[in-house]
Amino acid sequence: MTDPVSRRGFFLNATAAGVAAGTLATPDANAAAASRMKWNREADVVVVGAGAMGITAAIAAREAGASVIVLEAQPHIGGHAITSGGNVPLGGGTSAQKKHDIKDSPDLLFRDLTDWSVVEPNGFPDYRYNDREIIRAFADHSAATYEWLVAHGVIFVDKAPDAAGGNAVGNSVPREMHAAVMNWPMVQTGQPADPAVQATLSSGNGLMRPLEAAAREAGVMILERHRMVSLHRQDTGRVIGVTVDNNGARLTVGARKAVVIATGGSTGNVNFRRMADPRLTEEYCGLAGMPWSDQDASGEIAAMAIGASLWGMYNQTGDFGYKVTKPGTIGNQYGYRNLHWMPGSPVFDRARAIGLPVHDWQNVITVNMIGKRFYDETGPAFTTNDYGSINPYTAGDYRNARDIAWKPNNWLNAAMAGIGDGHNGGGPIWAVFDADAVTREKWVTTPPHVDSAGGFFFTADTLADLARKVVMTHQRVPMPPQTLEATVARYNTFVESGTDDDFGKPKPLYKIATPPFHAAWATPVIHDTRFGLRINANCQVMDMNGQVIPGLYCGGESAGGFSEHGLARATCQGYIAGHHAVLG
Ligand SMILES: Cc1cc2nc3c(=O)[nH]c(=O)nc-3n(C[C@H](O)[C@H](O)[C@H](O)COP(=O)(O)OP(=O)(O)OC[C@H]3O[C@@H](n4cnc5c(N)ncnc54)[C@H](O)[C@@H]3O)c2cc1C
Repeated sequence: MTDPVSRRGFFLNATAAGVAAGTLATPDANAAAASRMKWNREADVVVVGAGAMGITAAIAAREAGASVIVLEAQPHIGGHAITSGGNVPLGGGTSAQKKHDIKDSPDLLFRDLTDWSVVEPNGFPDYRYNDREIIRAFADHSAATYEWLVAHGVIFVDKAPDAAGGNAVGNSVPREMHAAVMNWPMVQTGQPADPAVQATLSSGNGLMRPLEAAAREAGVMILERHRMVSLHRQDTGRVIGVTVDNNGARLTVGARKAVVIATGGSTGNVNFRRMADPRLTEEYCGLAGMPWSDQDASGEIAAMAIGASLWGMYNQTGDFGYKVTKPGTIGNQYGYRNLHWMPGSPVFDRARAIGLPVHDWQNVITVNMIGKRFYDETGPAFTTNDYGSINPYTAGDYRNARDIAWKPNNWLNAAMAGIGDGHNGGGPIWAVFDADAVTREKWVTTPPHVDSAGGFFFTADTLADLARKVVMTHQRVPMPPQTLEATVARYNTFVESGTDDDFGKPKPLYKIATPPFHAAWATPVIHDTRFGLRINANCQVMDMNGQVIPGLYCGGESAGGFSEHGLARATCQGYIAGHHAVLG
């Protein structure tokens, strides 16, 4: 691709070079250098990570004529993508949009995702820090990626695109499509979904299983339990391979043409994520998508070690989207709002509990490490502006902000504010409730619903005893029993008066008075990564001088410059990188 932001894209260039006819590009200096090394394995393209970006890139590269090895750290494929809701915001004029008479175009998609005038009800801008070059490439290849997914076996729910599920689809038109789970076994349960909903239930299983099948059928070699630990870069500057850890043994894998970093981000690495948000200390251990796969920043760190730059850190820092969110279940470590690990799941031994889904936050109070309330429990998580959220909306008009009601969603900020002792991080947050709340919510407060053994759920007959029992790794100071007693006593007076004088909870409804009392882990959950390696429009990784690192590609959550909930950008960047790595 000569012009990285060209609307014509790589296919025209590739065709001109004769590659579309199935011939490979002439072996270059990289291939020559790589051939001098002694590798345990070798391929034209080595993809690191078998998630949304990696599997897409692998198929694209293979079908462009390359031999491809995918290295996956886990004993299974899919990454966070397979645990996801399968809501895929690809637009720009997809066949699904056309079918439902939705007028979209690459220009409209680009304009939406770069509109600085769009802000959240809390004042944070969604799209201001998106990199124009990267968004242009996404907009230009978005519809093609959608058709490519369909051509590779992904079945989307047969309904009009909407804005439900994922987010950051832009204000002008609906773009979200939903991968139907069909009869693929779900990683959450180990079983296929109820046949009655298989064609209508949106799920990452319905995205990743067909893509895995397509990759294997195309001849992609997928090596599980192969965790990349470092990259090899030649004196010439080219990346020529990787070192992996395979069950404790070190192996090398050579890449004659390219290494693609598709490792899924960094939110599981405490020190790495704190570069973007110093608040995110160790206690935020309930990552969405874990324990199926980790986001340990290994791709970013390996690339930085050979000179790569980071990009777009504000997109991680800003208070919008799901990157940090309020838990949907309590009493378990992994409480992301719509991901419930069930006992049949292959990773249930690591998830340890299903969690208690909270239907009504009136049924609990949330307290910090020292037993104090900090905000109205019914307060929502951060939001993100989607199709139709600003109405009326005029693209690029800074008066858009005047049409957005100022409505800060501060439960998360208050939870992460800490206890005023000068430490970073908010510490554990506990949902405290009584036996009557258990009845109202129809909760079962024993394993496997709660994780008592892991220190994420406690029960006692008195509030004082409950406070004393709250001992676990992240509770770095004891909860004073008298503080918890005083907090509950004061809250009960608010229920009597009907007014929460401290935090304005709308008409507190239920006293906490009937033993036994419970404290359930309700600490904010980290969801997705929105900063990472600097890439250009071709998904080539850039160094600290703004120069391309030859032979190194990245996309998905390990790449920076793109603020959008993940599957669309991950698959589209996989599509771009996989083709460009082979066809140039
Ligand atoms: C519960 C949940 C729901 C979601 N719902 C949606 C949704 O509905 N819509 C949407 O758009 N997005 C959703 N997302 C986000 C979306 O799933 C991610 O943004 C997307 O999967 C990112 O793709 P990726 O390829 O970058 O990373 P992943 O899909 O996570 O893949 C990364 C892979 O790399 C592997 N890996 C990591 N390090 C190494 C290493 N060193 N060596 C080898 N392999 C390695 C990992 O094990 C993993 O398999 C959701 C995420 C979660 C967790």
